[in-house]
Amino acid sequence: MTDVIDGNAVASEVRDGLGDAIETLDEAGVTPGLATVLMSDDPASQTYVSMKQRDCTEVGIEAFDYELDPSTPADELYDLIDELNGRDDVHGILVQMPVPDHVDSREVLRRIDPAKDVDGFHPENVGRLVAGDARFKPCTPHGIQKLLDSAGVDPEGKEAVIVGRSDIVGKPMANLLIQKAAGGNATVTVCHSRTQNLEAHTRRADIVVAACGVPELVTGDMLSEGTVVIDVGVNRVDADTEKGYELVGDVDYDSAESKARAITPVPGGVGPMTRAMLLWNTVKAASEAAEVDVALP
Ligand code: NDP
Repeated sequence: MTDVIDGNAVASEVRDGLGDAIETLDEAGVTPGLATVLMSDDPASQTYVSMKQRDCTEVGIEAFDYELDPSTPADELYDLIDELNGRDDVHGILVQMPVPDHVDSREVLRRIDPAKDVDGFHPENVGRLVAGDARFKPCTPHGIQKLLDSAGVDPEGKEAVIVGRSDIVGKPMANLLIQKAAGGNATVTVCHSRTQNLEAHTRRADIVVAACGVPELVTGDMLSEGTVVIDVGVNRVDADTEKGYELVGDVDYDSAESKARAITPVPGGVGPMTRAMLLWNTVKAASEAAEVDVALP
């Protein structure tokens, strides 16, 4: 029987655990705060930011909401980041990507105080992750580690194949899975658009993490029996629905499910975990800034 990994349920457990940590902080007079900065008219980006703000409010994190018109000069965004870096009530800063072309996205990532970089994308935090001394694990791969753990899958000694090498998913996922630490110790292969014969890699995998942004690229015939399949993809494809589209992953669910030992659905798999781990990082940032010890779930 295939285990369908319920990301909503695991995310809900994480949020409950964070509730205890937030209570401990509250007793010490600290309310964790997350500032979100949106500089885009893109409806998907707007939805992501409003969901993150709602998540915060639900668990007792204060959400500070900043919206800049996409035509705003880059310096105004940099100045806002500087201001947020200096505020004691803001423990985490998230600038929703992508930013408009006239803004240097690398400057944005470098500008955020690494101690408030709850996405984990600042070069200092990337370096710490690679060095095995992570301050903030990027939310999506961290959430996937939790999902694997919840399904009783220990990556140690396993062949893990990641499809995609982006800075936000593929690379940090690879870095987490090769760490000599709990949740790591896998033998990792990272595939990308120039990889020859993708299925030769996925077929020998014990764990496949699909993060390529290509609808249903990974099909059941590319997998061996008993593979654990983590589908990161969120793709809108035209469909005869009320909205005119449906969401599909980077895995062809029906064919993959028949091969998989465990699989994440889309939606309801990785997505809720990405959101939960942002809260996790914000609570960690607040506890470190306030020097209050909390137990993180
Ligand atoms: P990117 O577009 O930044 O990266 C895609 C990666 O996939 C690239 O490394 C690219 O290779 C590789 N790739 C593209 N086509 C192929 C192919 N045919 N075969 C093998 N590799 C290929 O995407 P992201 O990492 O940002 O996101 C990936 C997916 O995950 C998207 O669907 C996105 O919406 C989703 N996502 C979901 C999240 C969640 O919480 N559920 C969070 C973040 C992303 P190359 O480097 O050579 O171009």
